[in-house]
Formats: sequence, structure tokens, C-alpha cells
Amino acid sequence: MAAAGRSRFLAAQGSWARARAWLSSATSTQGSNALRAAVHGGESRGDLIWRIYGEAAAYWLHPLRIWGLPRPDLLGAAGRALRVGALASTTTNHASLHSKIFPSQSSRLLPHRARSRQGEEALDAMGKPKPSSAAPPPTRPSAASAPKTVHSALLTYTSMLSLLSLCPPFVILLWYTMVHADGSVVRTYEHLRDHGLLEGLKAIWPMPTMAAWKIIFGFALFEAVLQLLLPGKRFEGPISPSGNVPVYKANGLQAYAVTLVTYLSMWWFGLFNPAIVYDHLGEIYSALVFGSFVFCIFLYIKGHVAPSSSDSGSSGNAIIDFYWGMELYPRIGKHFDIKVFTNCRFGMMSWAVLAVTYCIKQYEMNGRVADSMLVNTALMLIYVTKFFWWESGYWCTMDIAHDRAGFYICWGCLVWVPSIYTSPGMYLVNHPVNLGPQLAVSILLAGILCIYINYDCDRQRQEFRRTNGKCSIWGKAPSKIVASYQTTAGETKTSLLLTSGWWGLSRHFHYVPEILSAFFWTVPALFDHFLPYFYVIFLTILLLDRAKRDDDRCSSKYGKYWKMYCNKVPYRVVPGIY
Ligand code: NDP
Repeated sequence: MAAAGRSRFLAAQGSWARARAWLSSATSTQGSNALRAAVHGGESRGDLIWRIYGEAAAYWLHPLRIWGLPRPDLLGAAGRALRVGALASTTTNHASLHSKIFPSQSSRLLPHRARSRQGEEALDAMGKPKPSSAAPPPTRPSAASAPKTVHSALLTYTSMLSLLSLCPPFVILLWYTMVHADGSVVRTYEHLRDHGLLEGLKAIWPMPTMAAWKIIFGFALFEAVLQLLLPGKRFEGPISPSGNVPVYKANGLQAYAVTLVTYLSMWWFGLFNPAIVYDHLGEIYSALVFGSFVFCIFLYIKGHVAPSSSDSGSSGNAIIDFYWGMELYPRIGKHFDIKVFTNCRFGMMSWAVLAVTYCIKQYEMNGRVADSMLVNTALMLIYVTKFFWWESGYWCTMDIAHDRAGFYICWGCLVWVPSIYTSPGMYLVNHPVNLGPQLAVSILLAGILCIYINYDCDRQRQEFRRTNGKCSIWGKAPSKIVASYQTTAGETKTSLLLTSGWWGLSRHFHYVPEILSAFFWTVPALFDHFLPYFYVIFLTILLLDRAKRDDDRCSSKYGKYWKMYCNKVPYRVVPGIY
């Protein structure tokens, strides 16, 4: 025990020593210039600043998207818009930023104690520990070998810190505007103008209360128990950079059903009134803002002292470790997967629970639920149901298979999803618009159609890849490109690119129904205020930018084969337009 404790302590100490050495190397202009030239292809400092700012911002906002994606990049887009004329175009997705900070995932994000006893146990828990031929033998980064990404890291700090300071107040301001300022941005602006920014913010920022903590912990505990105890099929995730195969229990849909049935039953039988959640919403968001931050500190410490598998490591820099995360598959014990909990069972589940809450609150207030609220709630629930139906597919996406558990993903799933993604419903509570049966049904059907098409796009691609192209796409054999690419270890592999069906209309057609779905569950609010549309606008920017980033990534991965795809399917997102 003592030896294990000491080795953990030394591992942590080593990281701090590396961080210090790394920071001291920051003073070397020569080194940083050389690095900049090498890593960033000689781009100017101004360009670099904006790009790093944009990327870091994008990463921070990443969890705002929920499905596995290469980075959602709202501020990435904003960053690029600001640096007018800068940097023509670079392959700037999460992986690229990560690879700049961590040149090779497998060699850079190093296991602390690759073959330690605890590490071996954890690997067993992850399923089949397979040494990957692609993964170089683990080595501990020394100060000398650590990449001297001084400038980019410093700039990344700046952007990270500014986002850290901007997003929490934004969550509170959005709640305040929706619930207490009649959805009017102007009223909130006037409040801040009259009281001064800080004083005005302080006046509206609710302190976390005991009731809020009880609600959060009650919900989190319930979901954690369901995640652990409900039966589900064994599911093996994709092989990790270190050659591990994480094993999951696919019980998301069961947990989702149990959660909703329990919640509604508690209301029905008078055991708990969901309206209470709405009444304490500000305090709940405030508690989530702070509590999730503390949770991320726990993840950081765990990554240093008790990583669950060899897919863990330090960048050598404490802030980056905290922000991007250290562990790819952190677990508590053998079976409790932390990312499944934060992203799916807390983040996505809270979306459904809050949608129902808003509906019930309106009923409690008015004795009836407006058709606008019914349409909004129904569409959001269908969307979240689709997510849980497909949850194991999500475990193969970048959110889970590539992104480490740190502040940017976990805080976002724990705070941003419950607050921002649910905001159209939050607005409707106090704005019971009556659409009339015809309009309500039309919006509902249009929304369902969009959610279905979005699902079918994902299904088509996954089925095509799963069957190695031996499936039927819209009643015909699929048209495809056999694309080869090289792994970082120099191995040549092949992938299939589908060029018919939805994937023949445009290269990212699935984003169109995704955006339209969000529009259809927002439009019942009609057009009195802009704020309910914040999520749709955010999502549109995020997905358009993401489509470009994914294209860049695929282009550098597949080279001439991606060009062939682009020639065959020339539009990026909207057929005939973009
Ligand atoms: P996908 O992972 O579904 O698709 C992109 C990847 O698919 C590419 O990186 C490439 O990866 C592969 N690919 C690209 N073209 C083809 C092709 N023609 N045939 C076969 N494979 C191809 O994208 P996302 O992760 O962005 O989206 C997944 C889901 O998440 C979608 O439904 C999307 O709408 C949703 N989403 C939701 C968001 C939200 O916040 N609400 C935000 C973003 C997405 P490879 O390297 O394997 O070739």
C-alpha cells in the first residue's frame, strides 16, 4: 500500500516537475520560434494567436454538441472570422490541435505506470488489453523530450481562461433572461447597464442551495445506480491508441425508460413535484457550474494518481491536463465508466428530464399545457430517445474514443447541455403560445421527419461500414470508393467511403436534418424573442464549421481518395448550395 502510494506520489511529482521544466523552456525564444516553424508551418504570430484562440474556444464548447464529433467549433468559427485574412486554411480539428500539443497520442499521452499492478487490473476491467502494434512502447516524457509548444500553450491558456470565465456567467444570464426577464435580451442588458456588469451579475447569480444540491445528487446517484445495475448487452468499443478495448454494458435505453417512468410516476403519485426543479433552476445551474468544476479537479487528480488504464497520460502541463483531460477511459472500480456517466447518463438524460419538467411546470402554472410546449417536449424527447437507442454507436465516436475526460468535455456535458440545449423549453414555460392543431401537427411531423432522416443518415453510414459495403442503400448496392490511408505507425489500411444514399447528396448531409430538428422544436416559440433561437444558431455555426474541419481531416487522411469523393459528391452540406 505504502509503496503504491509512494509511486503515485512520485508520478504526480514527476508531472509537476515536467510542468515546471516545460514552463521554464517557455523563455527560450529560439526554441519556440523553431517550434512554431515546425509545428505551425511558419504561420505568423497573429495568425497563430487567432487560430489557437479559435481552436481552444471550439474545444471548450465541444460538449455543446453531444454526438461524437470532431470538434464543434462555434468560437473556432468566430476566431477565424476575426482573424480576417489570416491563415488560409489548416487542418484544424480537435485531433490536429491535440496532435500539436501532444504530437502523438500514443507516445505523447503516456501511461504513468504502464505495467504497474494497478494498471494491469484496470486493463482487465477494460476488457482485452491488447498491445497495439501502432502504439510505441510507453516512455515517460522528460522535460527535454516534452514538446516545446510554449507559445501555443500560453495562447491556449489565455483563451481557455477567458472561456472559463465567460461560459459560466452566460449559463446564468441565459437562465435569468428566460425565467425572469421575459426572454428579453434587452431587459437583461438594461439590468446590467443600470447596475454595472459585475454588480448586476452578482445580483442575479443565485447561490447554490441545499435543495439544489439534493436534486443534483439525487439525480446523479439514481443514474449511477441504473448505469451499474441495469442489465445490458456487452459492447466492445473501438480499440484505443494504447491497444485496449473498452467494454461497456449497453443499458442506456433501459436507464432512459426507467428514469422517465420513475420521474413521471413520482409526480403522478405526489411523491415529488418536478415544478420544484424549475423553481430552483438558477440555483441548480449555479451548483452545477461550481460542482462540475470540482468534479473536473477530481478527474485531474485521478488521472495523475490512479489512472484506470494505460490510455492516460500527462502533457506535462497542469492546466492543459486539467482542461483537455488525462484519461481516455476513466473508471471508478472496474465497471463504472465516468464518460458514459457524464456525457450520456447525466448530460443527455438531464435534457429529457428537463424537457418533461418544463412541460409539467407549465401545467402546474396554467392548469393546461399549450400545444407549443407539447410539440417542443415531444420533439426533444424523440431526439433524446434516438440518442439512447443509438448510445453504443455514440461510444465509437470521437467524444468517447478520442477525447480525454477533462474540463472541456465533462463540464460541458454536465452544465452546458442541461442549460443551453434545453433552453427553448425553458423559454416556453412562461410563453404558452397557442399554435392551433394544424400548425402544431405540421411542426411536429416536420420535426419527426428531420429526426428520422438524421438517424437514417447515421444508420446508413454505420451499416455500410459494419457490413463492409455489403448492404443495400435505398434498394440498391451501394456506390463506394475504396480509400487507403496510412496510420501514424506507417501501416497502410483501407476504409470504404459511401457515395450513394444520403452520403451521395452531400458530404455532410446529416447536419441539415440535425439543424432543422432543432429549428422545429424551437419554432413553436414563434418570433417574439431572439433568445430561444440561440441554440439553433449556435448549432448551425458549429456544424457548418465542423463540416469543413471534418473535410480537412478526411482530406489529409485519404488524400486523392477524398478528392475522388469530392468530385463525385461536390457539395459539402446543402446539396446545390454549399
Ligand atoms: P460522423 O462521425 O457520423 O461522420 C463523419 C466521419 O464519417 C468522417 O470523419 C469519416 O470518418 C466518416 N465518413 C465521412 N464520409 C464518409 C462516407 N462517405 N462514407 C463513410 N464514412 C464517411 O459525423 P458526426 O460525428 O459529425 O455526426 C454524428 C451525429 O452527431 C450526426 O447525427 C450529427 O448530426 C450529430 N451531431 C449533433 C450535434 C449536436 O450538438 N446536436 C453536433 C454534431 C453532430 P473516418 O475517419 O472513419 O473515415
